[in-house]
Amino acid sequence: MYPQSLCHTCRHRREIRNARGSTFWLCGLSRENPAYEKYPLQPVRVCNGYQSVDKTRGKNE
Ligand code: SF4
Repeated sequence: MYPQSLCHTCRHRREIRNARGSTFWLCGLSRENPAYEKYPLQPVRVCNGYQSVDKTRGKNE
């Protein structure tokens, strides 16, 4: 969807598909921290909560 977005490679991203087949990205951090939008406006370019799914990479890489 948005390969240029941080959410694309973030371990907190959840993919949600509705009945009409549209796909949305839900930020898992929103459940525990109201500072994070449930469905962040894409593309996300800066995010303090970002954690790469690739554990060899650091924050905001
Ligand atoms: S923590 Fe940031 S980068 Fe990760 S899914 Fe949430 S909004 Fe996207």
